[in-house]
Amino acid sequence: MSRAGEFEIIARYFAPLAAAAPGALGLNDDAALVTPRDGFDLVVTNDALVEGVHFRADDPARDVARKALRVNLSDLAAMGAVPRVYNLALALAPRIDDVWLADFAAGLGDDQARFGVALIGGDTVATPGPVTIAVTAIGEVSAGKALTRSGARPGDRVFVSGTVGDAGAGLALLEGRASAPVPDRDSLVGRYRLPEPRSTLGPALVGLAHAAIDVSDGLLADLGHVCAVSGCAATLQLDAVPRSPAAGRCAGFAALDALSAGDDYELLFAAPPMASQAIAAAAARCGVAVTEIGRIAAGEGVHLVDAEGRPVAVGRTGYQHF
Ligand code: ADP
Ligand code: MG
Repeated sequence: MSRAGEFEIIARYFAPLAAAAPGALGLNDDAALVTPRDGFDLVVTNDALVEGVHFRADDPARDVARKALRVNLSDLAAMGAVPRVYNLALALAPRIDDVWLADFAAGLGDDQARFGVALIGGDTVATPGPVTIAVTAIGEVSAGKALTRSGARPGDRVFVSGTVGDAGAGLALLEGRASAPVPDRDSLVGRYRLPEPRSTLGPALVGLAHAAIDVSDGLLADLGHVCAVSGCAATLQLDAVPRSPAAGRCAGFAALDALSAGDDYELLFAAPPMASQAIAAAAARCGVAVTEIGRIAAGEGVHLVDAEGRPVAVGRTGYQHF
C-alpha cells in the first residue's frame, strides 16, 4: 500500500479543491479568511462521519466524501442559507491509500461544482481507529432571516420535501432486514449512501417558513425537536407522508418504519396557511416535491393520526447516538 505524507496529501489532493477560494490562501497558511457580504449573516455548521457508524468501510470513497459534504449542506439548507465554503478534518486509518484519497478528492470536486462551494482549509491526521471525516460548512443568509427550529406557531401547516423513508429502507436492505427487487434496491441504497441536500429549496423558503429542520434523525423525532423548541404540538397525518414507490415495494420496511428512519435529509418545515401557494411555486421552481403532512397546534408533542383522525401508536421515533 502506498500513501503520501501529510503535506503531500494536502498539496496533491486538497489544494486543487481550494484553488477557486482566495480566502483559502492556497492551503499554505495557518487558517483561512472568510468575508461575509454586506447584509448577510454567516451560517456555520459541523457534522462528522465515522466509519462503522455513518458509513461502511467498503462504501466507495467518492460517495463517502460527497455524503460528508452533503449532510452539512443539508444543515445549511435547513437554516435557509446558500452554501459558500467548507473546512475538512480527516483522521485516516492505516488502510487508507492513495487510490482511496484520489477517489475521495474526486467526489469532493464533483460536489463542489454541483453545489457551488470550495474547500478553504482543514486538518489531516493519522488514527489507529476508524476513519473520521468532519466537515465545517459555511453559508450565507440575509441578516436576521435565517430559518430556525423555534418559530412554529399554532395554525401553521407542516410540510416535507421529497419522499420519506428511502434512506432508511436502503440501510435496512444493506443490513439484510428488508428485501426488494434489484432496481428498487439500487435506488434506495443510493438514497442512503448519497443524500440530496435541498440547497435551493432551503433559501427559497426564507420569508415563507416559520421554522425548518432537516430530517436526519427521523421524521417523528425531528418534528418533535421543532415542537419542543417552538413550544407547541404537531399532528402528523400518516397517510399524507410521501413515500417513494420503491420504498412502498420494499418488504420488511413498513410505513411506520419510514417515520422513524433517519438519513433522508429532506426539509421539514412549518408555514402559515397563507404561504401555501408561494411554497408550491418555490417547490416547482426548485424541482422538488413539497407535501403538506400535518398541522401545528397548541400543546406539546407529536401526535400521529390516520386518515380519520384516529391516533396511531408509535414505538421508536428516531436515531439516538447515546
Ligand atoms: P497547522 O499545523 O498549522 O495546523 P497544517 O499542517 O495542519 O497546519 O495545515 C496546513 C494547511 O493545510 C492549512 O492551511 C490547513 O487548513 C490545510 N489543510 C490541512 N489538512 C487539510 C484537509 N484535509 N483539507 C483541506 N485543507 C487542509
Ligand atoms: Mg493542523
